[in-house]
Amino acid sequence: MSQPTTKPSGPAIEIRDARVRLGDTDVLRGVTMMVPRGRMVALIGPNGSGKTTLLRCLLGLQSLDSGEVRILGEPVGPKVLSRVGYVPQRLQLEPSFTISVREFLSLRRRDTRGWFWQSHRRIDSMLHGTLGELGVESLLDRPLAGLSGGQLQRVLIAYSLLAEPELLLLDEPTAGVDTPGEQSFYELISSIHARLGLTVVLVSHDLAMVFRQATWVYALNGVICCEGHPEEVLNADSLKAAYGIHVTPYHHHHHGPQTGPVEQPIAFKRR
Ligand code: ADP
Repeated sequence: MSQPTTKPSGPAIEIRDARVRLGDTDVLRGVTMMVPRGRMVALIGPNGSGKTTLLRCLLGLQSLDSGEVRILGEPVGPKVLSRVGYVPQRLQLEPSFTISVREFLSLRRRDTRGWFWQSHRRIDSMLHGTLGELGVESLLDRPLAGLSGGQLQRVLIAYSLLAEPELLLLDEPTAGVDTPGEQSFYELISSIHARLGLTVVLVSHDLAMVFRQATWVYALNGVICCEGHPEEVLNADSLKAAYGIHVTPYHHHHHGPQTGPVEQPIAFKRR
């Protein structure tokens, strides 16, 4: 895949004093964050802390009451959003929606619209690299609506990456993935991040994953309560500030499945 020839400078994400009120709730009460390019950052926080609202602001789907959001050095708008990939929590598909994975992926790029008719050799060459890494080749002829949660998430990531984004936003990407698949899924995102050098923002309830994979963590609860390296943020005081409860931080020093009642990884499940 070719990279864009001109890349404007500036951080991947700049948010200054963003405020959003929804109904009678001040959901974002002055969020400020600056994400330098190339980082893999995690956004954590309890249910209702505004994580999805913040992502919606970055995607131009939610307007601010005040403050400013810039991505890739530009105000949020269609032009810059063409350089941003987004993977939703889940996609509800009608079983009668019979589009295949190949047809779905071919919608993403003008130069791939002919995939459906092209030779497998040509398709294989297009899938080389990132898409091969995602393991979507074996799914190409499957109906999109028949995939498992984990398979569908891989296809959605492939779909995002086909447009060669500079910034990839993932909203709890393992919400529909079974537990054994979660770790390999995050490792996959991590290796894509390392290889392509793009900026990744992951919303996650899985603090054990954050500890292992993220290079920087933002803890949100209407405002950014704290930010820093995972080992700094995932300490008891920071988590108490973000979650408003006492939790024991997870330290990744075991090498197998935990069997006893000690130090279980913290995972805040969504509603
Ligand atoms: P999170 O993703 O961290 O769980 P959300 O951004 O989804 O948090 O929601 C933050 C808060 O905003 C919640 O209290 C939620 O009930 C409220 N909220 C979200 N959308 C709306 C809406 N359209 N109208 C009123 N309140 C909303």
